[in-house]
Amino acid sequence: MKITFLGTGAAQGIPAINCDCEHCTRARSEGGKLARERSAVLFSLPGYELLADTPPDVRILVLKNNITHLDGILVTSSSYDHIGGIKEFEYWRENVDFLAEDTLFELIKQEHWTPRLEELMFHVPYYPGASLYFGEVSIVPFAARQRRPIFGFSIKEKDRRVIYTSDTQGRLTNYARHFMRNCDLLIVNTPAFEPPAQEQITVVEALRLREAVGAKRLILTHIDHLNRPHDELERYVRQYPEVAVAYDGMVVEV
Ligand SMILES: [Zn+2]
Repeated sequence: MKITFLGTGAAQGIPAINCDCEHCTRARSEGGKLARERSAVLFSLPGYELLADTPPDVRILVLKNNITHLDGILVTSSSYDHIGGIKEFEYWRENVDFLAEDTLFELIKQEHWTPRLEELMFHVPYYPGASLYFGEVSIVPFAARQRRPIFGFSIKEKDRRVIYTSDTQGRLTNYARHFMRNCDLLIVNTPAFEPPAQEQITVVEALRLREAVGAKRLILTHIDHLNRPHDELERYVRQYPEVAVAYDGMVVEV
């Protein structure tokens, strides 16, 4: 499968508006890999184009990456940086599957749903731990948080398995850890570099997690301006084999 990292920023994107920290100042003047739109990833599966999350920047991301066809949108969270751009699809020219767990869908409907989207999208509910199986591909979501409906998922194509964590915390269930074991690629949200981070797993913890679960490859994404800039982060992870820092527009094959 081909994986395109459309946006790789955390909730604020980089540069963050109204921020004059060193990271944001550099991103403003140098651009390139230092600048990050909020997180969205396109999984190109055999016969099925799946977009994970629709951040507020999704219109620009779809245009920039020349995306003209989608089969499904999988939503992992109801927070603005993950779903804020869904209304951009009101005028999409084809029907799209909308994969969301039921309680998550209810939350999305409260703020982000419209009659046009209702017309266009087929709601396909997913359930943590239960496989959505289509042909040679299966998707299994898992709970990334204890109390809030936020989900990571595994995508398996033939014998290859990719885990995408979304807004996960450092403290994972044993189930989630077991689930990640020996995967071919682990994609982890790491807004901050090291603990103590407020809400989500950090770079340092993700490297440890990768080691513990034996993932063959690790990609860090969902990076905040409080984290290190892209070039510094890249230099840091170079000491670990098969670890990469995502940037907007990065494409990998698994
Ligand atoms: Zn900043």
